[in-house]
Amino acid sequence: MEEIEIKEWGKEVFDLLSWYKMDVVKNAKVMVVGAGALGNEVLKNLALFGVGNIYIVDFDTIEYTNLTRSVLFREEDADKGYFKSEVAARKLREINPNINVQYICGKLNTDVGLGLYRKMDVVVGCLDSRLARLQLNRLCMRADIPWVEGGMENLTGNVRVFKPGENCYECGLTENAKQNIFQQLSCAGVAHRNENVGRIPTTPVIASIIGAVETQEAMKLLHKEEVQSGVFSTLMGKWFHYEGMHNHISVYDSQAYFEDCPSHECWNDVVKIAALSADTRINDVFTLIQETLGVKEVEINLRNDKFVDIIVSKNDNQRFTPMLPESKISDYIDSNYDLYTRSRSDLNQNAYENINEEFPYQRLTLHEIGIPYYDVIEVTTENGVFHVELTADEARFPIIVK
Ligand SMILES: [Zn+2]
Repeated sequence: MEEIEIKEWGKEVFDLLSWYKMDVVKNAKVMVVGAGALGNEVLKNLALFGVGNIYIVDFDTIEYTNLTRSVLFREEDADKGYFKSEVAARKLREINPNINVQYICGKLNTDVGLGLYRKMDVVVGCLDSRLARLQLNRLCMRADIPWVEGGMENLTGNVRVFKPGENCYECGLTENAKQNIFQQLSCAGVAHRNENVGRIPTTPVIASIIGAVETQEAMKLLHKEEVQSGVFSTLMGKWFHYEGMHNHISVYDSQAYFEDCPSHECWNDVVKIAALSADTRINDVFTLIQETLGVKEVEINLRNDKFVDIIVSKNDNQRFTPMLPESKISDYIDSNYDLYTRSRSDLNQNAYENINEEFPYQRLTLHEIGIPYYDVIEVTTENGVFHVELTADEARFPIIVK
């Protein structure tokens, strides 16, 4: 009988490499945040390498201008205004049907639960704003996972690797850069209109170069033993800089890590509550947490997003009731003509930062007040602060182990 050949992705190709471990790569869990020009390159490379579990996060839709630097997108996707994350996931499954590709159409800090970050081996940032990088840095610190950072402009690009306890994106920022970011942060909600920053000139070539270096660093970080034994050096604590106009490539030290930095919170003490989901109503959340932790007082701290119930016009006292997380308020204003035509300074919003048993909307679910599925929430009790995972949501985020 003729022997049937079983095709295995990467066999007799990658296993020729001295360092490549098939089982490590097949079972790896990598999240790529941002599916623009850099994200396209990183995602394509990860799928070609056979990375077993890839999560794609992006809130944006495809535009014609994206097509010039995005190998995964087509004209039809721009015509139909499809989501970048969704199309990228579909294309990755075409490139490599052996891998598990999932996507989230949403923002990295308000739509992706910390439970999912905690599941990842590595996160690759393909972002175009410092605010988004700072938010991702804080979440990766909380989740205690390494992340790769890439940026590009014109023919110049940078790659860095950050690892909790070792080095930090926020610590490496200048005071000026930090001030600019915090100004953006404080302008959330009604005061905030358009977060689109000016377009940065880039080329498909610089996206390929920087995306390739980012992927290579992610592949190294997956091979933890090889990193430890010195087979590889990563860019952890280093800064890779490529300048394409005159072909300068440099690697600098970049090891900033200051004691008083607010980014260094690590939520390692997570309590898993199997019955708790983002779809649980708030009154039931209190009961479940009280029973599990053996406490009486529970206050949920909304660390990433406040909840806005009312917006009042100072001018004529007119009330609007958005009942939405603060991150969605600027869209709410844009879609409400009466609000849209008012001056931002005329509007006052009532926002909740902490939710306790006096919160007037106890029948709302955690998701309805802005908590993403499979998140870890911070709660203050009479016995101290706890971090509680919405473990019932785990099944929404499949991870394939082979
Ligand atoms: Zn720091």
